[in-house]
Amino acid sequence: MIAEVIVDVLSSNVDKVFDYNIPPSLDVVVGDRVDVPFGPRKVDGFVINIKDTSNYDLSKLKDIISKKDTQPLLSQNMVRLCFFMKQKFYLRLADTIRLFLPPVIRSGKVKEKIVQYVYINTDDFSCIKKGAKKQLEVLTYLQEKGKEKHSVLAQKFGASAVKALIEKQLVKVEGAQENRAPQNKFSVAKKEIVLNDQQQKAVDIISKSKYQPFLLHGVTGSGKTEVYINCIKSALKQNKTAIMLVPEISLTPQMFARFKNAFGDTVAILHSSLSQGERFDEWNRLKTGKAKIAIGARSCIFAPLDNIGLIVVDEEHDSSYYSESNPRFHTHEVAKYLAYLNNCPLILGSATPSIESYHLAKKGEYRLVQLTSRANQKELPNIEIVDMLSEIHSGNTGIFSYRFLNELEQTIADKKQAMIFINRRGFSSFLMCKECGYVPKCEDCDVSLVYHKEDDMLKCHYCNRRYRPLKVCPKCKSQSIRFGAVGTQRVVDELKKLFNVPIFRLDNDSTQNKNSYIDILEEFNHTSPAILVGTQMIAKGHDFNNVTLVGIVDADMSLHFSDYKAIERTYQLITQVSGRAGRSESEGKVVLQTYCPKHFVYRCASNYDYTAFFKKEINLREVTHFPPFVNIMRILVLGEDEQKVMGVLEQLYTQIKELKQTYTSDFVYLSAMKCPKRRLQKNYRYQILLRLYKKNESEIVGKIYDICDKLKLNKVSVFIENDPQNLS
Ligand code: ADP
Ligand code: ZN
Ligand code: ZN
Repeated sequence: MIAEVIVDVLSSNVDKVFDYNIPPSLDVVVGDRVDVPFGPRKVDGFVINIKDTSNYDLSKLKDIISKKDTQPLLSQNMVRLCFFMKQKFYLRLADTIRLFLPPVIRSGKVKEKIVQYVYINTDDFSCIKKGAKKQLEVLTYLQEKGKEKHSVLAQKFGASAVKALIEKQLVKVEGAQENRAPQNKFSVAKKEIVLNDQQQKAVDIISKSKYQPFLLHGVTGSGKTEVYINCIKSALKQNKTAIMLVPEISLTPQMFARFKNAFGDTVAILHSSLSQGERFDEWNRLKTGKAKIAIGARSCIFAPLDNIGLIVVDEEHDSSYYSESNPRFHTHEVAKYLAYLNNCPLILGSATPSIESYHLAKKGEYRLVQLTSRANQKELPNIEIVDMLSEIHSGNTGIFSYRFLNELEQTIADKKQAMIFINRRGFSSFLMCKECGYVPKCEDCDVSLVYHKEDDMLKCHYCNRRYRPLKVCPKCKSQSIRFGAVGTQRVVDELKKLFNVPIFRLDNDSTQNKNSYIDILEEFNHTSPAILVGTQMIAKGHDFNNVTLVGIVDADMSLHFSDYKAIERTYQLITQVSGRAGRSESEGKVVLQTYCPKHFVYRCASNYDYTAFFKKEINLREVTHFPPFVNIMRILVLGEDEQKVMGVLEQLYTQIKELKQTYTSDFVYLSAMKCPKRRLQKNYRYQILLRLYKKNESEIVGKIYDICDKLKLNKVSVFIENDPQNLS
């Protein structure tokens, strides 16, 4: 028999399927990891198919050397997904396979944790000498308990007593595997929840469905998580498994605790702060069927589960669902294909769906399911817009508006909690007039310009056009131009001068170590009155009962981010942050500070009017030729030798320009340039950016893939990104 094998070698030159002979002594099945000879070396390979014959010269085929595991590591569906991802995202097969096998599994260095247990082997204690009191105590103890960990006994009664008993064979020692379960210090009370009508209807529709993506659009606090939990229960009842994805940042202890309450040990959790051992055990619990629900960030879509009955992508609008380093992929596409392979429903859930997803729902590709009110029957918190320019004009040059300071004082007097959100997206990368709020934009693309400090230039990230930084505002002639935003530390310092209450800070700097994030949240949760200051990290998922005030200090930061999604991101952030207020008994309130109070994004967000926002935004996208009406594609060319990189770029660009001659009316834009970050980790970075209308898109993209395939690459890598989330 012949095996088709993908070798675990990351090189475009060997990115294909190789045939190997299966020696009769080996029992090889599809999905097995095997050792194969590869040139002069021995490498890992994965068997993806078994067949009777080969198109190659049979006498020249090499033999598989050995099998590496007792069980196959890959399933049929995983192999299908690998080929899907190769074709869809232009990935190498070896890269796609690695996605399914986390390093702890692949390396073979981490092993199961075996704990030694001591069992009693006799009920005749007569051979113990009178003086050996400790030994008698051990036996009596074991007689009662049956078994105990060796380490516990040794600590309680002394190692020598235990040793003596083992030698006399009065007790025996056996190893047992012990699970390294991730600990959760955060506990939430188990609530008996009766779904409301909208929730129940959503669960009924979704859990009866075969393959179908659903867009679950539910306002913050509407009980989407309860819908997920109930749909998962229904999948388990049918003896199926489930995957639930959340953005890493909102993989909150509360979420974890809620799922543990609902499902106990059936849940495995895969997130970035697990120890190697924990990750190994959680993965194996899924693989062996001991756990049936996998919860985790993006890469959890590759969890080793068969027979999947439901996939959930929570906070589906979150940009973390795009993988931005190799292997680059978009989780939604993978989730859709996996749901299709399993013929099961897929839920994309959000209070603020991405424009693309909502557009697809409107077109009927996704089925829209809505939850329109909060589960606690309370109104959504009132969002008050404060014009910071008029604050400046009335003499307040501080970070906080008078309005917000008043509310904060009241909140503290009421012994409640406040959260202050600092928008750090696009931090200090744009210029703004302090008098009139003017922000310079690209004349060609209508996105905000990014200030590059190194060469003191404003640049457009979509067309690379360069502009001189402003000294004088073209609109109002003022000379007070401001750079970027305030930081969390400054906000905390300012607050400390004004209020004598505990102030917590949560951002990337304050949470370097694994548990401090959870510690900070837990301490805040138990402290009232208190203030929590933070960046995006505090925006999502958290369910604190006592938060009644939310302040958004610099709402505009993400608005001026040089990105066609800037407005969309701003809408999402405001809605998510506001959603943290008033989730329990007391009503919540939000103060939003901005320099452009008239912008439609604030009007729509403060009215919680997603539909109005969508209408405005989708029109903008259409007239400015951005997704979902066009496809943005970036071809990244990287390498340590700049000359070589430029050589490849040149070839590529010439050939794509030729392609453009055939498809003139399909190209909105095409250009080659240095990346804004010209050098990263030793690599020089160049890119080709293009925007294509949708009509002939897949045909053209296919041809571009062909062009890339035929390039002669010498120590240069080429990556293709569809709809890149970040053009740095
Ligand atoms: P979302 O995920 O939509 O933000 P959650 O599922 O976190 O909302 O629900 C918000 C709060 O409302 C949670 O504390 C949850 O326990 C509670 N909740 C959800 N559904 C119900 C219900 N049907 N009855 C009572 N409380 C509910
Ligand atoms: Zn101005
Ligand atoms: Zn431009």
